Formats: sequence, structure tokens, C-alpha cells
Amino acid sequence: MALWGRPWPLAWSGLGCCDMKRISILGATGSIGQSTLDILRHDRDSFDVCALTGARNIHQLAQDAIEFGASYAITSVDDLYQPLKELLAGTGVTVMAGRAALVEAGDLPVDLCVSAIVGAAGLEPGYRALARGADLALANKESMVAAGQLMKQTARKHGGQLLPVDSEHSAIFQALQGEARQSVERVIITASGGAFRDWSLAQLQSATPAQAQTHPNWDMGQRITIDSASMFNKALEVIEAKELFDLSPGQIEVVIHPQSLIHSIVGFCDAGMMAHIGPHDMRHAIAYAMYYPNRPALPLARLDLVKIGRLDFMEPDRAKYPALDLADQVMDQGGLMGAAFNAAKETALDAFIAGQIGFLTMSQVVKRVLDRLSIDTAAKSDPLDLENILAMDALARTVAGKEIDKI
Ligand code: NAD
Ligand code: MG
Repeated sequence: MALWGRPWPLAWSGLGCCDMKRISILGATGSIGQSTLDILRHDRDSFDVCALTGARNIHQLAQDAIEFGASYAITSVDDLYQPLKELLAGTGVTVMAGRAALVEAGDLPVDLCVSAIVGAAGLEPGYRALARGADLALANKESMVAAGQLMKQTARKHGGQLLPVDSEHSAIFQALQGEARQSVERVIITASGGAFRDWSLAQLQSATPAQAQTHPNWDMGQRITIDSASMFNKALEVIEAKELFDLSPGQIEVVIHPQSLIHSIVGFCDAGMMAHIGPHDMRHAIAYAMYYPNRPALPLARLDLVKIGRLDFMEPDRAKYPALDLADQVMDQGGLMGAAFNAAKETALDAFIAGQIGFLTMSQVVKRVLDRLSIDTAAKSDPLDLENILAMDALARTVAGKEIDKI
């Protein structure tokens, strides 16, 4: 971290001015968005900022739009149009607001779109960027869980690349470079175990949102941090990996690795394994996606393996983390179960944050939604139809809400 404030090292080569990329950042005011801007801050010659989007944090959005000379600043909140307009008066930045404006942000002509909104709200603008032929640096794992097949088909059809940003998926992506697909036997996704790694099942009954939103290793947004404590984050990542790398569910393993230094591992058919190891700093994975296939020199902290001394691995306790079994159910049943799973999880998470339900109740709610919807339509619906996906998302939120009301 300490290195970050210094100028780039002389080894820095950037993309070269002839290759300047036009870039939009969806969710620019969040944890991933701010880390992305930090990378841009140190390389003003390689990227030209088209649009920055945010939600309620318009002061940050306006400040960043001015600093980076963005053409557009877009808030998803209708009512914040006028205040944002006032903050950006006289700057030449075009202001837009509302859900439709956010989705249209994906239509703006860019080379690279960073998808860093949290939740299913990020699906449509990211999809639109792919449909326009842009490369998508994908932090928004929810898009792949809800609409993985559609996202891949859209990228293939319009020539954009899906570049993983989630650290585990970036690790796998990096380990797969130059390897033949058929030589991949399995992937091992590492998990920190989150805030409650050492808690018993009995203790988890009374876990509070405040306790769940402190991550032992990573500094992230509130929602993903709580999802790490429940391992819903890992469950989403397992489905994300299946979709991104065309794996079968049986090829994906999860292992608890408390130090979070190995970000994931690919196991090959000759018994060799490629592990990706690096500091807890998302700027590595973000920059890998932004500059792919180049590797810029980054002034991030270097690991001292002797100081670290040891790396530990443990099997996850599936009784403590039922979300992992729910991910298996989603992958087995296919169809739109991913969309239902993500939406039910988001609704249960909202209820937990609001103090309406307990920590362990989140997975019970999601399980009930999956069981109900798989009998109806979710497992049978066409996963390549965006309208179907959005309808399933809405239905699963309604069903989850009813299940929460019963508790
Ligand atoms: P965050 O909460 O810090 O930021 C979320 C961003 O999305 C903000 O800009 C916010 O304004 C915007 N936003 C929130 N709700 C919105 C809505 N309804 N409509 C439009 N915009 C909305 O989240 P984060 O931690 O940066 O995570 C972003 C995404 O990246 C998530 O999908 C998360 O799972 C993934 N991710 C994050 C990390 C990390 O280190 N933070 C690591 C891996 C993957
Ligand atoms: Mg991750």
C-alpha cells in the first residue's frame, strides 16, 4: 500500500499513447470503482474516461468526474439529478440520472467498460456494453450468476472480451494463459472464511450485521463483506467460475485458506497445479483486466514469503456454510436458477442488514425460494433471454419477501 502514492516506477510502459483506450466505470464510487480510478490516476496517458456512474454518493461522483475529465456523470437515483447538475455546473460534464440513464451508460461507445456496480443492478448496463462490442472488466459477479450464458453469448457475438476482476477468477484466468482447455482437470477456489471463520454454528445464530461486515483480509463494500462471512460470496463465485471458464460443477472445489494470499489454483491433467499468489489488493486483478494481455509494472506491496512463513488450507464446514450446497443445487438445476438464487440472496441480505432476520436465516430463505421456483419455472426457462432473466429476478425477490414475512 505504501508504494502506491509514489510515481510509477521507470519500468512502467502503459499502453502507449497510440493505444489509448476509452473507458467507462459503472459503480465508480464503490470500492472496486475507486481502486480502478486509482490505477487511472497513475496512468493518465493510457485511458480516456467516457462515463462514471454511481448511486447516492454524488459528491464523490462529481469530484471524480472533474478530476478525470469524464464526458458523463450518471447517478442511478432520479432525485439526485439536480444536485449533481449543480455540483458539475460549468465543468462541461454531461449529467444524467435514473435507472434508464444507468442502463444507457452501457451503450456509450468505449473500448473497455468496468462493471463494478454491486448486485443485479449491474447486469443490464454491463450486458449493454458487451452488446456494443466493448470489452467488459467484470467485478459484478452477479451478472455471471444471473445471466452467465447470455453474457458469454453476447461477448462472442459482438467481439468483446469478458475479463474477470474478481480476484479468484483473475487468478484462474492468469493460470490458464497459454494452456489447452482440455488439460484442465479442476479449479480450486480459495476462501478466507470471512469474519466468522472461527465461530461455531451455535455462535452464528446470533451474529449481527456489524460483526459480519468486518473482513479479516480484504477491504471491500459492505454487501460483499457480509456475503464473505456467510460464504454466499463463495457460492456466487463457484457459479461465476463455472460460467466464465465453462467448467462442470464437479471440477470446482472450495478450500478455506485463511491467509487469502493464494487467490485460486488450477489443477491440470498431469497433476501439476498453478497457484496464483499475491497481496490483498484488488488493484492487481483490476489492472490485469484493464491492460490485458499486457502486465504493467504496479507499485503494490510485494509479498515477503519468509515473513509469511506458512499457508494453511482447510475444508469448509458445509453445516456452517449452507450457501455452498445451494450453489450446487443451482448448478445442477440450471435454467434461470442462478437469477433466482442471486435475487433471493440479495433480498435476504437486505433483511439481515435491516435486522429483520438472523444470519443463518438468510440461507433458509434462499433455500425455500429455490425449492419453490425450481418446481415452477426457474429450472426450465430460457437462460438466453434477458426479459426472462429480469422477470425471474423480480419473481424471486417477491417470493423471498413473502418467505421473510412468514418468519
Ligand atoms: P460497493 O458497495 O463498494 O460499491 C458499489 C457501487 O455500485 C457504488 O458505486 C454504488 O454507488 C453503486 N450502486 C450500488 N447500488 C446501485 C444500484 N442499485 N444502481 C446503480 N448503482 C449502484 O461494492 P464493491 O465492493 O465495489 O463491489 C462491486 C462489485 O464488485 C460487486 O459485484 C462485488 O461482488 C464485486 N467484487 C468486489 C470486490 C472488492 O474488493 N470490493 C472484490 C471482488 C468482487
Ligand atoms: Mg472474490
